[in-house]
Amino acid sequence: MQCSGLQADLTAIYCCPICKGNLSSLPDLYLCEQCEKVFPVRWGIPDFRVFRDSNYNPADEMLKAEQLVQDRGQLDYGQLRGLYIELTQPRRETWSPRLEDLIRDQNRRALSIEGRVRDIRFSIAHLLSIVPTQAAYGCQLALDNGCGHGMGILSLASSFSQVIGVDISFLGLLLAQKLLSERGVTNYALICACAEALPFRENLFNFVSALALIEHVSDQESMIRETHRVLKQGGAFMLTSPNRYFVREPHKNIVGVGFVPRRFQEKYVHWMSRNQLGYSGYRLLSYIELRSMMREVYGRSWTCRVHLVNRSIPPRTLLGKLYRKLGIIPMITESFPYKLFCATHTVIAWKDQTGEVKAELAKDIK
Ligand SMILES: [Zn+2]
Repeated sequence: MQCSGLQADLTAIYCCPICKGNLSSLPDLYLCEQCEKVFPVRWGIPDFRVFRDSNYNPADEMLKAEQLVQDRGQLDYGQLRGLYIELTQPRRETWSPRLEDLIRDQNRRALSIEGRVRDIRFSIAHLLSIVPTQAAYGCQLALDNGCGHGMGILSLASSFSQVIGVDISFLGLLLAQKLLSERGVTNYALICACAEALPFRENLFNFVSALALIEHVSDQESMIRETHRVLKQGGAFMLTSPNRYFVREPHKNIVGVGFVPRRFQEKYVHWMSRNQLGYSGYRLLSYIELRSMMREVYGRSWTCRVHLVNRSIPPRTLLGKLYRKLGIIPMITESFPYKLFCATHTVIAWKDQTGEVKAELAKDIK
């Protein structure tokens, strides 16, 4: 497909993430003309973060980034991911069996690229068929908010003329650069930024995705609000969110975490894993909480589907068989009780002409 809508100069779509003022582009940095904040550009990635991932201090992060950049010429994506884990996890000798299991599992999923790309593409195509507005595909601009190591960008790049990936982890973005260059993807740009304070002008994107992001951000409603702000009229927003009230916590693979009051969850995970795992920085939403946030921002212009393809439940276990059996009966999977306890919520929302008005209406109805 020939696309003329490609943005050669992305400066035109950026704005200050704090005051939303205009930016001047200088060599290796952006400068806000209004609040005079400076945003550096390193290895082609602008750093628009207004706060940091609490795991790293800036100096430590840059040292690790330099090491990744230095070695990425000789390593393939899988090997570079190994180095990334070495740099970001505690020393291997100190890994507990629990942590080792978790990392092995994450690795397995991260390296099954073809399967995951297929799943994401299938889900997006299906969800966009539900959207009543003229949303997506073709010579258009997409945003993958919380792009991690680039799997979402890889899935979107063949359907959109340009994909922008945003993530708070600078090191993760260096890994995404490697994956995308290995796969020959060129129509993308990577931005380091906070999902709650996007450095983009409003009414810009035809499609925004936030896959398994919301449980990691500190201000969840602001994150959703920002997606609405940067979406074009008629554009669509897809979100996946692991359910708080699913039996098993997907990040730690521990049963019952969601049923414990939030302030005791860290202690509970600690106790269940015999002091081997922590649980800070996670906030899984229940269906009711997610619904209320979506109503607040998108009014009635959204719908929640139960995740179409779910790899978080091992298919051969009794639970997996049960979920798969139930999953083929839409009357059950679209019902309210099922949504309360299913594994993952998938939301598709759209920004229509009267989006704002409808959001106001929904507030009144509540
Ligand atoms: Zn500013």
